[in-house]
Amino acid sequence: METELLIGDKSSTIASYESEDPFPPSIAQVNKSFPDPSYQLLNEELNPHKKNWNILSVSEQEVKEAFLQYASSKCCYRTAPAEKMVVRNLTPLNTYRYRLETFTEKREANLASELYYGGFVDSSAVGLPPAPWDIVVDPPPLFTDCEMHIPVPHTYFVQNCPDCKGQRGIKCQSCNGTGKKKCSSCNGTGSTWQEDSHVCSFCAGTGDKSCLKCHSSGWLKCVRCNESGLLLFHTELTITWKNNVAEHVAGKNSDFPTHHFQEVTGRKIHHDEQPMVYPITDFPEPSINASSRACIAQHKMKFVPGGLHRILRQKQTVELVPLTKVEYEWQGSLYSFYLFGNEKKVYAEDYPEKCCCSVM
Ligand SMILES: [Zn+2]
Ligand SMILES: [Zn+2]
Ligand SMILES: [Zn+2]
Repeated sequence: METELLIGDKSSTIASYESEDPFPPSIAQVNKSFPDPSYQLLNEELNPHKKNWNILSVSEQEVKEAFLQYASSKCCYRTAPAEKMVVRNLTPLNTYRYRLETFTEKREANLASELYYGGFVDSSAVGLPPAPWDIVVDPPPLFTDCEMHIPVPHTYFVQNCPDCKGQRGIKCQSCNGTGKKKCSSCNGTGSTWQEDSHVCSFCAGTGDKSCLKCHSSGWLKCVRCNESGLLLFHTELTITWKNNVAEHVAGKNSDFPTHHFQEVTGRKIHHDEQPMVYPITDFPEPSINASSRACIAQHKMKFVPGGLHRILRQKQTVELVPLTKVEYEWQGSLYSFYLFGNEKKVYAEDYPEKCCCSVM
């Protein structure tokens, strides 16, 4: 799954798309056939218009349990600070995450070859080859990456093997096709000073040795066509289904490194799935509307109709991702860490009691 991150980036990516309208009238008209483009809430209970979501999502007890579990999972961390810390402050910094998933299909034709044993050839004389997008296949489940290779009917033809050019064999490079190599013992002279007769016993005075690679034939059998000189070619269609993901996490109001949000889930507030989704326009956090517009425009430009790709389906979601800053005291000093996601993961830069696992 390919993920493009637009975390906390409100300027560069988005601004570049706002300079020109990515939705010309024709596309806008097509989109009008889809249901109400404004976002539909999954649950009225979670309505971000009515509720202030910047409230604490964890209790002090949950904070302590999560921190202790975190310290225990690290071999170099002593658990004492997590066990005995005094929580001084809990600050809710909850945020929203926008995600666009565009499920695409790509069709590419390549030339493939195989050994030819004679017999029927399904050539273009038999029937007209279908165009890449006219071939009917069962797609995988939606939003699942998959690849398939299909031989295209009526594209078969027999031609000389390109490796041996139909010669069934290839000149031996080791002896340059002569079948002989210079005798290394006498350096090709046929005589030597080491023996009474002065005749090289390795080559019997010829100065040559037979080439071991081609067994003196000067010729190597062509592996690609198995010495037949011919190959059966056809067009192979490669179909690639891919779920392309673009994400954006709203506003950065803390020093928490936002890339860690990738490790966790949030509470789904909005879910919209269509053949093509329309940008969210009325979410209370403006950067979510902007990133929806930018991500959709980006995928529309990337998967232009008429190219190798087709967009099969899109879905966009908005999640509320819990984030809490915890400030605590340990042995008279103040420290802090973050608790984030539904999974209550811990991010602690300055854990007070780390020992060194020295390598002997
Ligand atoms: Zn010799
Ligand atoms: Zn040879
Ligand atoms: Zn060949």
